[in-house]
Amino acid sequence: MDQIKTFILSAFLTFTFFAGCNPDNDDSRDDNEDPELVAGYDQNASDGNANSNAEDPNSSQNDGNTTGSNQGNATVDSGSQENTGPSSGAKENGVACTCDDECAGTEVNPGFCLQGICAQVSSDPECAAGSTESCPAGSRCWSQICYPDCDAVECAGGCDEDGSCVPTEEMRNACDHTCSIACPTPEPTCESDSDCEAGLVCGTSARCIMDVGTVPAGPIPTCDNIPSWECEGNETYCGELLPFEPDLGPGYWDYPLNGERDDDQYRSYARRDMIMLIKHVSAKVDCLASGWAGNGGEIGLGDMSEENGDIPGTRDGRPGHPEGTHVDGHDMDIGYFQVGTPDNKLRSVCPHCTDESGYCADGSWRDNDTYHCLGEAEFLDVWRTALWLGIAHVTPQLRVIGVDGRVGEPVVAAIEELCANGWLNNSACQYPYIAFETENDGAGWYYFHHHHFHISLSGRSGAGFSAIPEFYWIPPMSMIENAVPTDAHEDPRSAWVR
Ligand SMILES: [Zn+2]
Repeated sequence: MDQIKTFILSAFLTFTFFAGCNPDNDDSRDDNEDPELVAGYDQNASDGNANSNAEDPNSSQNDGNTTGSNQGNATVDSGSQENTGPSSGAKENGVACTCDDECAGTEVNPGFCLQGICAQVSSDPECAAGSTESCPAGSRCWSQICYPDCDAVECAGGCDEDGSCVPTEEMRNACDHTCSIACPTPEPTCESDSDCEAGLVCGTSARCIMDVGTVPAGPIPTCDNIPSWECEGNETYCGELLPFEPDLGPGYWDYPLNGERDDDQYRSYARRDMIMLIKHVSAKVDCLASGWAGNGGEIGLGDMSEENGDIPGTRDGRPGHPEGTHVDGHDMDIGYFQVGTPDNKLRSVCPHCTDESGYCADGSWRDNDTYHCLGEAEFLDVWRTALWLGIAHVTPQLRVIGVDGRVGEPVVAAIEELCANGWLNNSACQYPYIAFETENDGAGWYYFHHHHFHISLSGRSGAGFSAIPEFYWIPPMSMIENAVPTDAHEDPRSAWVR
């Protein structure tokens, strides 16, 4: 698929195309302050993984992979379009437009304004890329959109590599979301805290982010009974894959998930030095933060690697992570510390669905899940999470910890405060290796981290044991080029995350 089409598509993935949903995040937040709703959410979320298994994750993977164009949430149903005026306009395909009702269409192929040019909706939500059957003559289908052919229309935009008429970047930037469903709702920007609603502050990326509040008060407990993180030995010894045992220890809980059973935790193998680190950090947070607010439970451990170093799920023929990640015990998925939930199992800490609740409370996972935070991380225990991530910087083998774009800024802000107040004192105070994407730049962190963070260690030799780069950059999820699919629905993680 052409780059511009991919770009347009990612905007739809984020902001929902033709689902007739309310993308207003403020409403979602309000709804979730309802305690009853929160309770319902907890219940759903605790067994979210079990449910996703029951739903047959394989089917969702196949849908994503085989068609390469089924965008799940972009369910096109001419009957469900609430704020478009299909077929009401006079402008032909390819003509410049601002609002949906300017564009001509039919019952079968309603017209709409595609970020600056008139186009029509495909009659087949699962049309094959470049196919013509579901589109009017002179246009071809990609991801439910009938793009006009440049040689068939008078194109007010530009022509892409496929010969399709597409909006120019200028048009896309100028689109009007108030009357065009294909135009994403812009995020409000801010210059100072006074531009933000109560409870929010202006973050470094000019977005209003959650106010982390005041750093927990001391005194800081003395914690001298903490297992060591330091593996003494060579790569063969420290890199040896071991089952994570015991399942429950000070400050952590390796509970069965993603198809594991108590007697078959086949997705829970990690390097010896990784296991030592996780036990050290979890025990230390358990001790240091014992007096803090939050649910205070053990941190939940998720996918690691399989016994032979394979990506979890490979045993069942369904590797659950992008190629090059979660191999040989270098990576681990871990739940966030939470507030307002019964425990710290892996679950979303923020609204991530486009239904009214923000949490797919109506069960519409395939249609409405955007796989990343759409609003503030209201269930995040920001202080415990920041403390855990900060302490993990004790090892020079730390490569990166990836979090959601809405989690990154508050957590980094909290780490700064913890450093300033004596709770933390290591390289995290100078160079926090926290990767996150506030927009999808393709590094692999944008999707699937609303639900857990991903910690990655390098091997012993690669660590250098002293090197801290002068300028931190966000490393991609995997070092293998193009390992992370550009389409979230094609990403193997989409089968597991709820
Ligand atoms: Zn991961």
